[in-house]
Amino acid sequence: MDTVTRVNLAVHGVRVDAPVRRNKGAGPSDDGHLVLDGENAALPIVTDSPYVIRQGRVYEGRIDLGLVVNTVQRPKFYDLTTADGVPYEKIALLHGKDVLATTVVQTCIRYEEAQRCRFCAIEESLKQGATIAAKTPAQLAEVAEAAVRLDGVRQMVMTTGTTTGPDRGARNLVRSVRAVRQAVPDLPIQVQIEPPKTLSVIADLKAAGAEAIGIHVESMDDELRQRWMPGKGSVPMAEYEAAWDEAVRVFGRNKVSTYLLIGLGETPDEMVAGAKSLIDRGVYPFVVPMRPMMGTLARQDGATTAPASVVAEITARVGALLQEAGMAGDDQGAGCAACGACSALKAAGG
Ligand code: SF4
Repeated sequence: MDTVTRVNLAVHGVRVDAPVRRNKGAGPSDDGHLVLDGENAALPIVTDSPYVIRQGRVYEGRIDLGLVVNTVQRPKFYDLTTADGVPYEKIALLHGKDVLATTVVQTCIRYEEAQRCRFCAIEESLKQGATIAAKTPAQLAEVAEAAVRLDGVRQMVMTTGTTTGPDRGARNLVRSVRAVRQAVPDLPIQVQIEPPKTLSVIADLKAAGAEAIGIHVESMDDELRQRWMPGKGSVPMAEYEAAWDEAVRVFGRNKVSTYLLIGLGETPDEMVAGAKSLIDRGVYPFVVPMRPMMGTLARQDGATTAPASVVAEITARVGALLQEAGMAGDDQGAGCAACGACSALKAAGG
């Protein structure tokens, strides 16, 4: 699949009835989950998109684009309930065909309106009753075991809202990773955290059994960070750099990643330069178009997704840099770069 087609689908979405989708929660995208030519793809479901899925093929109008597509089916583990009475679906979700994703703490100290990341809706799914505020290690272990056994899940992503302590939520993930690895020893797990003030917790995450780590900055531009993420943007870049460097030391080169959101205001040259500086540190820049999803301040502001041509240019250039550096998303073993659904980087060689 070429990068331009993959980006067009990510930006313009598709017309399809997708049984597995997320429409609120942590992070920058809400989508239906599909498998496009064998790769995970989280694509917006758009009723007037020029792209339509019919009988397992993608069409632009009447033209068959030559892509085989399958919708991800509702997993069997969604029908189960934990020993303490919580539906599994409120503990963790299937992303793509084989990723189990959970937000271990669904609240965030930065969620008051003046501090909130404008693209994030972490507490909206909680308000809707679609999830619970905090998942215990025992619940996560129970759900992970079932998801692997019943639905062939191959990797797990654990993210968290930011908490008040100096670890900013990472300590809780240590306990969660340990419990899941005890229940399912071979399941690779990626953890996603803010830079912790206590850097030693990064080694604790690795020792607990995490395979990869995401420390997500979203933008390398300080002024845009303040504008889009007033709370998180108050964490100095120096703290991100120290956390990335410690994570590369502990987890290894290309086992550390960060999101960079296309559409916050950086030019393609600025974004590519930022991505290059991350690659040089051993950090995989997961470039993703920002889509203002339901329940976000960005949506309220009337923010729009960047034009497909801009997303395609940045994705292609960053993909080429990753290829040159020998950094493939698949080699992360777990996490968003390994899943690839929310970015078009895999089509561009990343
Ligand atoms: S890229 Fe990350 S957030 Fe997107 S579907 Fe995959 S695991 Fe989920």
